Amino acid sequence: MTQTITVIRGDGIGPEIMDATLHVLDAMNLGLRYEDADAGLVALEKHGELLPATTLESIQRNRIALKSPLATPVGGGFSSINVELRRKFDLYANVRPATSFPNTRSRFSDGVDLITIRENTEGSYISEGQEVSADGETAVSITRITRKGSDRIVRYAFELARRTGRRKVTIVHKANILKSTSGLFLKIAREVAAEYPDIEANEMIVDNCCMQLVMRPEQFDIIVTTNLFGDIISDLCAGLVGGLGLAPGANIGKDVAIFEAVHGTAPDIAGQGKANPCALLLGAAQMLDHLGKPDEATRLREAIVATLAAGDSLTPDLGGSGNTMAFARAIAARL
Ligand code: ATP
Ligand code: MG
Repeated sequence: MTQTITVIRGDGIGPEIMDATLHVLDAMNLGLRYEDADAGLVALEKHGELLPATTLESIQRNRIALKSPLATPVGGGFSSINVELRRKFDLYANVRPATSFPNTRSRFSDGVDLITIRENTEGSYISEGQEVSADGETAVSITRITRKGSDRIVRYAFELARRTGRRKVTIVHKANILKSTSGLFLKIAREVAAEYPDIEANEMIVDNCCMQLVMRPEQFDIIVTTNLFGDIISDLCAGLVGGLGLAPGANIGKDVAIFEAVHGTAPDIAGQGKANPCALLLGAAQMLDHLGKPDEATRLREAIVATLAAGDSLTPDLGGSGNTMAFARAIAARL
């Protein structure tokens, strides 16, 4: 069966890394069909909107999107398009793998292979309840944790562990201080964990988790946590394995999933062929997993690893003298 995916080429280095990624996917003969849709500055110029209805319809229809980074204009009251996409499609699980790769500038040459699952819709990042007093002296905000939100994110983590043969889920919280919100998350996480006796579960307070990640990252397998902690921890993990050029992410909901690179539009290097396409390629590998093609996902990851190990046509951020498309061709040649 042909699978159609919505392809959003995005802004800045977006089109370059998307060309590179589709070149590699095409070399795999997966029978994927691409449906182009605009979002970001490109869409604003062409259609007068950052997130046109036709783009939303395309994502809704295909249920799967591969997305390059998008620029949101500064000022003018535009809200982040990424946040809007998460809201529109209720993409509650932000899934961020961090894996050590050869030949990358990282403090840990091997042993890191973990996935952070961040709750993406509630917690401290809800937009309501943000208030600064009239005299400007006091600010308050609301953190909302729900049973539904906590249950589905923790369940997602345990189901992912089962599906992918991972053995341990670490529940990260701050229930000792944030007794109501983090407390409820921990309570529900324990209930869900009890339904998965085949998967080891442990608990860690977020501050200790940060220290442990830097000192002994190999002890982690899957981490599941609330929105704010997950935001911070997943970037920490990207740093452990050599930074933004290698960090993919998936935003997953009940009906729709969007796969992307974690980094932004990198305007400083846009249009120069310097961008490292690996983050988006690894996002595409997550997409293949999601589409029920784990062998193809593994094949893609192995070609990326082999190319990194050979130091073949690497981009400047990895210390190479290659360019975006040459790197992609080197990967495609190893498939
Ligand atoms: P945005 O506002 O869209 O987030 P930004 O200016 O914050 O853009 P990022 O894309 O977040 O830029 O990147 C931060 C730094 O990392 C930049 O110096 C950028 O060149 C570099 N960088 C990001 N992605 C890549 C990549 N794929 N390959 C090489 N360098 C990258
Ligand atoms: Mg940025």
